[in-house]
Amino acid sequence: MHKGYIQINTGDGKGKTTAALGTAVRTLVSGKTVFFGQFIKGVETGELRLSEYFPNFEIEQFGKGCFIFDEPTESDIKIAREGLNRCSEILSSGDYSLVVLDEINVAIYYGLLKTDEVIKVLSEKAENTEVILTGRYAPKELIELADLVTEMKKVKHYFDNGVKARRGIEY
Ligand code: ATP
Ligand code: MG
Repeated sequence: MHKGYIQINTGDGKGKTTAALGTAVRTLVSGKTVFFGQFIKGVETGELRLSEYFPNFEIEQFGKGCFIFDEPTESDIKIAREGLNRCSEILSSGDYSLVVLDEINVAIYYGLLKTDEVIKVLSEKAENTEVILTGRYAPKELIELADLVTEMKKVKHYFDNGVKARRGIEY
């Protein structure tokens, strides 16, 4: 078993969640296990169905949908907290080769989780578990802690021309 590193996919360009899913598929086809935790999101993303194809893929959502346009509520905070507790168990169990904390940077940015709490959870992860944190606005403390940080830089995005998220491409 390899040592597990801490990766971050951040920035304002497309590909943060997509790249994490690509790594997840690589881990799965090598016969290993993946846990994919989605913060913020409560919508029916295509990735929810990956477990139909890969029995070693587990996915859970810790969000109600998309509050990004409103203020987060107490219940948004509660769901995110419970999600972090769940991911903490998963990360420390040693049962997963890869754990993705999708949009966790956004959960921190909107005040649903504290950076220190996330750092504590990462410090308790099993040695061989790789973790990928995604989402724009990664805090500098997490960037310092991580071993691999990639910033997706937006050169152009069709979202700015009114193209909304499409099934099979964005979700
Ligand atoms: P992907 O899941 O396609 O890899 P990502 O994880 O890099 O994308 P996110 O920041 O999670 O990007 O954004 C997910 C979706 O949110 C985008 O596909 C887009 O439809 C929508 N979106 C909302 N606001 C913006 C914005 N300002 N710029 C670009 N996309 C946005
Ligand atoms: Mg994303």
